Amino acid sequence: AHLARIEAVDEKVHAFLHVDREGALAQARAVDARRAAGEELGPLAGVPLALKDIFTTEGVPTTVGSKILEGWIPPYDATVTKRLKDAGVVILGKTNMDEFAMGSSTENSAYGPTGNPWDLTRVPGGSGGGSSAALAAYEAPLAIGTDTGGSIRQPAALTGTVGVKPTYGGVSRYGMVAFSSSLDQGGPCARTVLDAALLHEVIAGHDPMDSTSIDAPVPSVVEAARNGSVAGMRVGVVNQFSGEGYQAGVVQRFEEAVELLTKLGATVVELDCPSFDLALSAYYLIAPSECSSNLARFDAMRYGLRVGDDGTRSAEDVTALTREAGFGDEVKRRVILGTYALSSGYYDAYYGSAQKVRTLITRDFEKAFEQVDVIVSPTTPTTAFPIGERADDPMAMYLADLCTIPTNMAGNAAMSLPCGLAPEDGLPVGLQIIAPAMKDDRLYKVGAAVE
Ligand code: GLN
Repeated sequence: AHLARIEAVDEKVHAFLHVDREGALAQARAVDARRAAGEELGPLAGVPLALKDIFTTEGVPTTVGSKILEGWIPPYDATVTKRLKDAGVVILGKTNMDEFAMGSSTENSAYGPTGNPWDLTRVPGGSGGGSSAALAAYEAPLAIGTDTGGSIRQPAALTGTVGVKPTYGGVSRYGMVAFSSSLDQGGPCARTVLDAALLHEVIAGHDPMDSTSIDAPVPSVVEAARNGSVAGMRVGVVNQFSGEGYQAGVVQRFEEAVELLTKLGATVVELDCPSFDLALSAYYLIAPSECSSNLARFDAMRYGLRVGDDGTRSAEDVTALTREAGFGDEVKRRVILGTYALSSGYYDAYYGSAQKVRTLITRDFEKAFEQVDVIVSPTTPTTAFPIGERADDPMAMYLADLCTIPTNMAGNAAMSLPCGLAPEDGLPVGLQIIAPAMKDDRLYKVGAAVE
């Protein structure tokens, strides 16, 4: 049924870069066979899923939304891919994304933008716009995204779906193409909080193949999602997540959500986190710096595209020509910025200062979580914007992640869930819930209570 739905609507939505029809049917049949053989399978066995095209899939193309990996067929599965398959989850295909996960609208995909199912002339958010759009268009009931600065939560907010960035280290990054390794985190996307929890428990947990993976039990998120409650909880509202640039309807729906939390028995506490104002600037030094190092592996020798290799050119020239042709503008912008920020003589002034800001943000969170159990905010300052509106204005695009980036900087956990529609445009608004590291269960407990 989902394959038929994809066939019917994806020409318009363009959530998928690759639909693996035969592979999905084979996986579904394999689940039947495992069941028939008496194997006890988990609750998601046989449930279809849309996988962000940043996770390697053995034998199935993985492009990361870039021309530089066009035609590359990975020889191995990412840990996330493997865990999904082991649980019997059926992978329908790979979803569209901003190239190398750099963007907030999916317009930076080398394969064309994805439409927001609520209004196809608007963006679904990014970088994981394909995954969230697939959910909103009922092309898949589950999806996987990655969140470096908001790429799970911001698309969830803009498409009226649920998205969770687990605690950093909670989900393995092995086989997840690296953008900014100290920030990147894979996580579940779904249409309900409980569905996201079920998926969370399938993909999370220690992986010896990822040195930053946390070796501790996964928080009991399914149990939390089944027992939603905020009674007696202290909920923080941060001053820095409001003010100029926030759409009136977004603020209105957020304030209503805070009222609901109070009505359900939570105590609301106002918080000041002054370093959050610097988060965006620090992020746009740290993320490009790490990306300039990570993307060095795309050298025309090891993977995918190779341009100009006619026997007359040096390896360096072939690498340069391949990168010129294979990387899009945003990727080039970040590699240039990151290379500059890391260069000798500038390292301390740029990367070093940004790392200090990162420590201050972590301390702001630590102080906040001495006073509250969770923090809430709007997920994004505005609802979905028209395709093209911010495409030539990187600064305007970067503002979409104002509320999501601090969490990545500190490594703690956060969720976005639907919070009604903005009265002025009828588009979805997202409520963000933030919890301390390894307290991912609190997101689900609160999320399930207000859903
Ligand atoms: N929009 C942010 C960026 O472009 C975040 C992207 C992400 O989370 N992958 O860097």
